[in-house]
Amino acid sequence: MIHATTDLSVQFASDNTAGACPEAIDALVAANAGWQPSYGTDEITHRVCDRLREVFETDCDVYFVFNGTAANALSLASLCRSYHSVICADCAHVETDECGAPEFFSNGTKLLRASTVDGKLVPAEIGRLVHLRTDIHYPRPRVVSLTQASELGTVYTPQELAAVSHAARAAGLHLHMDGARFANAVAALGCSPADLSWRAGVDVLCLGGTKMGLPLGEAVVFFDRRLSEEFAWRCKQAGQLASKMRYLAAPWLGVLESGTWLARAEHANRMARRLADRLVRLPGVTLHAPCEANGVFVNLPTAVSNQLQAADVHFYTFIGGAARFMCSWATTEEAVDRLAMLAADAFEP
Ligand SMILES: *Cc1c(COP(=O)(O)O)cnc(C)c1O
Repeated sequence: MIHATTDLSVQFASDNTAGACPEAIDALVAANAGWQPSYGTDEITHRVCDRLREVFETDCDVYFVFNGTAANALSLASLCRSYHSVICADCAHVETDECGAPEFFSNGTKLLRASTVDGKLVPAEIGRLVHLRTDIHYPRPRVVSLTQASELGTVYTPQELAAVSHAARAAGLHLHMDGARFANAVAALGCSPADLSWRAGVDVLCLGGTKMGLPLGEAVVFFDRRLSEEFAWRCKQAGQLASKMRYLAAPWLGVLESGTWLARAEHANRMARRLADRLVRLPGVTLHAPCEANGVFVNLPTAVSNQLQAADVHFYTFIGGAARFMCSWATTEEAVDRLAMLAADAFEP
């Protein structure tokens, strides 16, 4: 059931509860004019791929799919055979939130869970899991998957990425990046998209569009083009090849050509910092993980958490073992301040 939002409800459940940003919708409407060839052979899709090659400063291979689960599952499947394994964080979306899709689409590739610090993979874990077993009975590690920004709202610095990448290379593994919030990470670090991806050793990036402010859609960006061989067939078989591809591609054009994709992400990050600053002033409230992107993870007293939920504040408590408040391009300062006020009120006897 869809609940109508009211002015009083405060939306922090996820960055995918916001609508699409105006420049994405304008581009979508513009793309609606006339006839275009189907299945990605249209002019708009070509233009977006070219823009992404400019953004990443390299001749990468780009595909568009409907959601992040498909992007992750299909890209991992293209890097692995059924008897391989993928090393990922124990809190990784591919492990906890994709209903086994990576395993399903790779015909059995196993995910190996690595422990983390603030949601980030520790390089030493890669070596440990690779060397734990090398016999015929153990699924052979083939890929390291990491999430940027992480599931706990932290970001890997270029140095941290380099360390993970080095450990992966040393073990002969590919590097996959779940970039559902890649824009937030780029905005937070002020690095070039290239420095946070292929220059840091990433072979394939699942670049998030939905949470960035598109109506839907994610891009799969292969920096090592040999790995994308036959990827188009994989997408088609999985039901991820849009026939009217221009509608999946056009919103990207809106945010890339206007250059607003990073400005929107920076806004979301700023709202999260504002909220974190407000919340940690309250007695007994601590950050569960550093606030580095667009999510705020706080340890809230249960009574306060319950009271906020009763006040129609929307947030999750089942991700990362803390209260999670996500900000998006559409989050306003007023909404942040209202939430902070409600939280402060919840402490009153
Ligand atoms: C939201 C999200 C995805 C994509 O999820 P879908 O619902 O399949 O679009 C992937 N990875 C992370 C870390 C996410 O937060």
